Amino acid sequence: MTHAARLLSHHGRQAWVLCDDGERRLCVYRGRSIHPAANDSVSVDLSADPGVITEIHPRHNEISRSEPHRMKTLAANIDQAVIVISGSPLFSDELLARMICACAAEAVKGVVVLNKTDLEAPSDRGRAHLKAFTQCLSLLGWTVIETSTITHQDHAAHDAQQGIAMLMRQIRDLTSLVMGQSGMGKSSLLNAMVPGLNMQTREISEALQSGKHTTTAAYMVSLPGNTWLIDTPGFQLFGLHHLSVTQLALGFPELEQIREQSGPCRYANCRHEAEPDCRVKQAVEAGRMTRRRWEIWRALLART
Ligand code: GDP
Repeated sequence: MTHAARLLSHHGRQAWVLCDDGERRLCVYRGRSIHPAANDSVSVDLSADPGVITEIHPRHNEISRSEPHRMKTLAANIDQAVIVISGSPLFSDELLARMICACAAEAVKGVVVLNKTDLEAPSDRGRAHLKAFTQCLSLLGWTVIETSTITHQDHAAHDAQQGIAMLMRQIRDLTSLVMGQSGMGKSSLLNAMVPGLNMQTREISEALQSGKHTTTAAYMVSLPGNTWLIDTPGFQLFGLHHLSVTQLALGFPELEQIREQSGPCRYANCRHEAEPDCRVKQAVEAGRMTRRRWEIWRALLART
């Protein structure tokens, strides 16, 4: 009695899955070879109770973060990423670049959501901070949406609802991985977007007996239609040790554009750090790539 299922969340050796008969079930998995991630497509054997996950089907993408000896796959098979940032506290542009790299390495596009736009001066600072990413986001085909979850102030209410409505259109009928540095307002935004969010998270944490579930693992919530959001715990670090320099460069599409426009650097293996006759350094000096993006590139090379 093997069923196909979608993995909604996991904790310990247990997973909460949505089976192809429409039922949500608690399952277990064994063996060292099974490392599930949210939104994995799996096979479950329901002849046992609880059911057993026997196989994870090949992923068409996976978004991971990693420390030197530990990799954590946040989600698999996603359609797009939603990265929440804000001007208060001011987001870390290096963390944003890291999240974009994790996605670009897997050819996943996304949306950057600048939240808390009711806070006017901080949001201006946020926009200025994001400006260095304009070229990168446009080359990668990402969009930026501005939102506020505060709707009780009259002047902010209209814009806030417009931003959230735009985001709702952007996620419709897709599976989106939602991530962000802690404090940006990701939970508030999910609450504003997902009817019955608390009920859904309670159901997951009770099934998995994971305590305060939302702080520990990624989990999927459903919206009306075929729309899914994968929420992830907020973080302050986003290591990319699993990516090669070539993969990292996919998150810096300016580098490839410079190569196309100006030709190759003197050294074929130039890392665009401080080598002589580096086209990237020349492009930065000529204002064709922002200095800040070059600094972030070098920071990532120094400590992926
Ligand atoms: P998370 O860590 O990203 O999940 O952030 P939270 O949703 O917990 O929000 C962090 C803080 O920002 C809380 O105090 C929220 O009330 C506040 N916050 C969230 N969204 C907004 C917003 O749109 N405007 C303002 N002014 N505050 C917000």
